[in-house]
Amino acid sequence: MRKRELEKFKKLLLKERDNVVEEMRRENESLSKSQRESAGDLSGYAFHMADAGTDASQRAFAGSMITADQKILFEIDEALMRIKDRVYGVCQKCRRSITLERLEIVSYARLCRKCMNDTEEGT
Ligand SMILES: [Zn+2]
Repeated sequence: MRKRELEKFKKLLLKERDNVVEEMRRENESLSKSQRESAGDLSGYAFHMADAGTDASQRAFAGSMITADQKILFEIDEALMRIKDRVYGVCQKCRRSITLERLEIVSYARLCRKCMNDTEEGT
């Protein structure tokens, strides 16, 4: 891939990274907000303690969302490393070039469309 194209995808990845980080920050904010609110409930109205179980499962759900974001963040960081090593856009399975069209949609793609489809069918 040409340097100019690498630069373009680097910018794209950094932008996506910002979005994911911002998303995680918002998730964290709503998480701590609900924790504060439930803490307020406990001190103000002792009989609301019965609701604590519901809050816990909601927090667990929000927790799994963060994990999904972290996975994308990891993929983006890996892709940025591949740009640095000049191997970005190369399928990690068949070593052929991943099409620019695919990279524009999934900028952190590790596999070409064909290998991706093979992997999905294999599981
Ligand atoms: Zn491939």
